[in-house]
Order: sequence, then C-alpha cells, then structure tokens
Amino acid sequence: MAEVLLQNLEKRYENDAHAVKGVTLAARDGEFVVLVGPSGCGKTTTLRMVAGLEEITSGNLMIDGVRMNDREPKDRDVAMVFQNYALYPHMTVFENMAFPLKMRKVPKAQIKTQVEDVARLLGIDHHLKKKPKELSGGERQRVAVGRAIVRKPKVFLFDEPLSNLDAALRTQMRAELKRIQRNLGATMLYVTHDQVEAMTMGDKIAVMNKGELEQFGTPSEIYEHPASVFVARFLGSPAMNILPGGIIHESQNSYFVSNRLKVKLDRPSEVGNVYLGIRPEAIILERGCNESDAISGKLILIEPVGSVTHYYIEREDAFGGTFVASVPHGRMLDGGNALGETVTFRIPGEAIHLFERDSGKRIT
Ligand code: ATP
Repeated sequence: MAEVLLQNLEKRYENDAHAVKGVTLAARDGEFVVLVGPSGCGKTTTLRMVAGLEEITSGNLMIDGVRMNDREPKDRDVAMVFQNYALYPHMTVFENMAFPLKMRKVPKAQIKTQVEDVARLLGIDHHLKKKPKELSGGERQRVAVGRAIVRKPKVFLFDEPLSNLDAALRTQMRAELKRIQRNLGATMLYVTHDQVEAMTMGDKIAVMNKGELEQFGTPSEIYEHPASVFVARFLGSPAMNILPGGIIHESQNSYFVSNRLKVKLDRPSEVGNVYLGIRPEAIILERGCNESDAISGKLILIEPVGSVTHYYIEREDAFGGTFVASVPHGRMLDGGNALGETVTFRIPGEAIHLFERDSGKRIT
C-alpha cells in the first residue's frame, strides 16, 4: 500500500520565487501520476518536496496517511530517478544497483538475489559486471531504474528520466517503464514536459502552469474536457484551435459568432465573450459547405505525418495566427490542396469547446 497525498503544497524559495502554489492531488496505491507542464512551472520542485530534497513551505505531504513534511529523505521510503542517471562511474552495474541495499546493511546473499532478480526483470542481467561507460544510454537508464526498484520503496519519483534518449529508445522505454510499474504495482510520480509521455504513460495527469495545478484527471478526461485554454493548448498535437468570439441567442438556440462565422451550438450557453476551441481532427471537410459555419483562409503549411496530414490556414484572429485541420491522408480540401490557395473548413457545433474569455476557464 502506498498512497501519496499532496495537500495545498506551497514552495517559496529564499529569493521569493513562488515556485509551487497550493497544489492538491492524490496518487492512489499503484497509480502512475504524471506531472506535466512547460519549463519552470514547478514540476521538479513539487517532486523534490515529495522526495525530501526541498523543504515544504506550507501544506501537507502525506504518504499512507502519515505526514512526511519533516521526515528525512531516507525515512520517507521513496526512490528518485533523475534525468542524468547519476550512476557511480567507478562501480560495476551490480555494485551500482546494490548500493542502496548495502547502505541499509542488507545481508550480502540477499543483495545478490535481489539485484539479480531486478536485473532480469529489466533485461540487463548480462551487463552486471560492466561499468556504466560500457553501456548505451538506454541500458544506463535501466540500471538507474534498477537501482531505484531494488529496495522496493513505497513510492517511485521520476524526473524526466527519458529525456536524454533518442526518439526510438524513448518510445521503447516508455512502454517498458509502464510495464515495470504495473508488474510492481508501484505508486509513481513522474515529471515530464513531454505531452506524449504524459498521455501514454499516466493513469492520471497533473497539468501545471506557473506553479498552479490547472487540471488533474485521466488522460481522456483532460483531452476531452480540458479545464482551461492552457490545458487545451498544452495537450494534443497540433494544439487545439482557439478563436475569440461571442455567444448569442436566436430563436431559442445558442450560437458562437465571430466575424462571418456563426456556429450553432448543440447545447445552450450563456451570452458573453468566449473562446471557441476545436481540435484539428474534429474539423470537417465538406465541399461547398454552408458559409456561416465554415472558416476560410489561405493555406500556408502542409504537414504530412503519415496517416494524417495537418493543413494550416492563416487566421490572424486565431491563437498562434493559424487554424489547423488534421485530415486522413489523401482527402481533398474544399478549395484546393496547394499552398496559397484559399480553403474552407467546417466547424461542427457538437465538437466545440467553450472557454470564458476573461479567466480562460472551461464553460461546461
Ligand atoms: P523544468 O522543466 O525546466 O525543469 P520545472 O517545471 O521542473 O521546469 P522548477 O524547476 O520546479 O520547474 O522551477 C519552478 C520555478 O522555481 C522556476 O521559476 C525556477 O526558476 C524556480 N526555482 C527552482 N529552483 C530554485 C532555487 N533553488 N532557488 C530559487 N528559485 C528556484
């Protein structure tokens, strides 16, 4: 059993940097929780407070119901894996993995069995006699993971552990880490700025922005019901299209309006200033579609990525100055398929997300 509870966790550094602002979340027993957000949003600081490497300014850190704020790192029963592996270069793989057990004065025979078991689990048992420099990046990362696993802590803390690996190895290690975590039934907090890692690995995702927790939920909750424009834009690639406009009522229906665009909503909404959000893959391509619920613009970028192609049109009113549709490979656009042509996308009312203009928060 290991449940990690962060209650209103705050961090102010001595220079008055307010790095973490009242973060509350729970990682249930055996859950894989990913902390994700842009650089500087406070992910690492949060993780380091859980590890005991950073003092907690206020709030509570509970592990299995016990307040841990003032416990030494070694008494929290957590293991942390860093981005740079931090293996001892002069020790063999075996010695590196055995180190935490040796420090805890575990008997030699037991150390041998535990290290060998974990090495087999990670597929590095044939490297035990080698030094870290004789290993590839992925193998070294496995040793670092092994060193964390070997003493069976209650909680694993991972800080961007895959960011030094190449793309193919990252994908492989993502799946592997997830499998290992499931097999061990371990509770894990995992920091990354990579949204794909967050979506593919997390049972739950905590999206952070400027020290605050913007949203905490399952990957599908966060993707399908982003709580704010920030979350909507952060997860998903290409990012969700965002267009400012307003809501009006006409003959008992609600409409989103902006310039010539007028899209009927599938649900009533309050009148006011809003942002419309629409995922690129929710755009519909239709020849000769009705002018009012369609958006047109000059095609300025075409990105074929295999099964789909991303088409960007120029729209000064949209976030980032572009509006993008992701369509299955081989579909023709309404208007043409070449750069510089004016093309039209239809926006289906039922796929629209709405956000308050002032706060950026979702309107349900
Ligand atoms: P990254 O992905 O770049 O590692 P992060 O989300 O992990 O970013 P943190 O490292 O937690 O962000 O930093 C959060 C904020 O706290 C930043 O503004 C950073 O400058 C500040 N900060 C971090 N460590 C310290 C420190 N030791 N002293 C003062 N300010 C700090």
